[in-house]
Amino acid sequence: MAKIKVGDEVVVLSGKDKGKRGKVVQVIPKEGKVVVEGVNIVKRHIRPTRRGQESGIVEREAPIYISKVMLICSRCGKRTRVGMKILEDPVKGKEKVRVCKKCGEVVG
Ligand SMILES: [Zn+2]
Repeated sequence: MAKIKVGDEVVVLSGKDKGKRGKVVQVIPKEGKVVVEGVNIVKRHIRPTRRGQESGIVEREAPIYISKVMLICSRCGKRTRVGMKILEDPVKGKEKVRVCKKCGEVVG
């Protein structure tokens, strides 16, 4: 189970975007990377592939390593490491959930 999920708010720990916060828009488990809104912006030159399409430069987020970001807990608002807990639900059975190491609350 991934410790970081799409929709999480994270803070960047190192690199040129250190200290920046953003929402995770994509997780790439195979590469151990995530794409974070507004973080690690790169410029890409676009060549028109179809008629009528404009060429130019677009800015978009490039993936960064998961180890370079830290989750911001939606409960206590602090940056935190993620723990795992098994919940026993009478209906759903055993369920693995993420917990905030700072406040101990279950993180969505
Ligand atoms: Zn918390």
